[in-house]
Amino acid sequence: LPSRLPGVGTTIFSVMSALAAETGAVNLGQGFPDFDCDPRLVDAVSHAMSAGLNQYAPMTGVPALRQAIAAKLQSLYGRAYDAEREITVTAGATQAILTALLALVHPGDEVIVLDPCYDSYVPGIALAGGTAVRVPLQPGSFRPDFDRIAAALTPRTRALIVNTPHNPSGTVWREADMLRLQELLAPTGVWLISDEVYEHMVFDGQLHASAARHPGLAERALIVSSFGKTYHVTGWKVGYVAAPAALSAEFRKVHQFNVFSVNTPVQHGLAQHLADPQPYLELPAFYQRKRELFRAGLGATRLRLLPCEGSYFQCVDYRDLALPERELPEAAFCEWLTREIGVAAIPLSAFYGDGFEQGVVRLCFAKRDETLQAALERLARL
Ligand code: PMP
Ligand code: GLN
Repeated sequence: LPSRLPGVGTTIFSVMSALAAETGAVNLGQGFPDFDCDPRLVDAVSHAMSAGLNQYAPMTGVPALRQAIAAKLQSLYGRAYDAEREITVTAGATQAILTALLALVHPGDEVIVLDPCYDSYVPGIALAGGTAVRVPLQPGSFRPDFDRIAAALTPRTRALIVNTPHNPSGTVWREADMLRLQELLAPTGVWLISDEVYEHMVFDGQLHASAARHPGLAERALIVSSFGKTYHVTGWKVGYVAAPAALSAEFRKVHQFNVFSVNTPVQHGLAQHLADPQPYLELPAFYQRKRELFRAGLGATRLRLLPCEGSYFQCVDYRDLALPERELPEAAFCEWLTREIGVAAIPLSAFYGDGFEQGVVRLCFAKRDETLQAALERLARL
């Protein structure tokens, strides 16, 4: 069968979760919380179900949810999105990103991604008939290298995908980075897909660098977020895209034929929950405390901690271990760590086009304190 995605196997997240389940390892690989969401959110969704809100939602999303999203974007980032024409509710961020690519990219177009990047981007570009142009983030710091991004822009560049806070590195872009990006894109017709799924997980008092804060970026941006991350419900698969009306119209042309609409009672529940800013305003402190606990424990091992400014991922370098396994490539190291130490992790090489090896793996700390402690006890053997 002539594959549309030759060379693509099963995602690393499925592979590592399956291995963790098979071996009984603590699963710090695939990013998802192992604790429950706010019971008020479950109540709001089950209320909507009991009230008979169980048929197709409007194609673009339940109006109350679109309005709540617009109100949040206005209050946090100061941009007024029209809930009717500029916000679309999606089946998670994955569907949002693929739909954006299918809507924007024409065969032969180039789309710039910054390596390492989330694993759905490049296959999505390929499915849209485009060519992914991988521009490395700065080695070591994972900060954007604007000279290299500038050098990668060509007349064929249709879009650029940016992700802050960044999966897998936990890097957070500064306002200065966004201004630089705005300046760089100003003379171009390049669309910006701004993956902001970890927008509410930014630590140490830093601000989330949303493209919505900058008119010159917002006018060319599809801003993507996910309630799965914000409300600890990754299994619900609901997110959204905020984009200017003309871009949203193109997005919706594709959206209506790839999912049409998204889970109705969940949208009603989310609309009610989102009306209260408290839960997402508390999220940075909630995850920052977990980050501290986890980093303090890891500090007692020979794993070298990389910075973590946002997201719920902590990267560690294992090249200083006093074990022969420190020489293993990252994927093999993750398999060994899962089977022999009992902790599942994700190899950074999975986020690079060429499988670049630097001896770094990603650990997810969106876990109960007991789970983190159990993982730390095992990692203490390293
Ligand atoms: N983008 C990034 C950077 C992510 O980490 C994730 C979740 N792993 C997604 C997109 C997809 O989000 P969702 O689960 O809402 O599809
Ligand atoms: N975004 C999650 C991660 O990076 C995984 C989502 C998935 O399994 N597709 O771990």
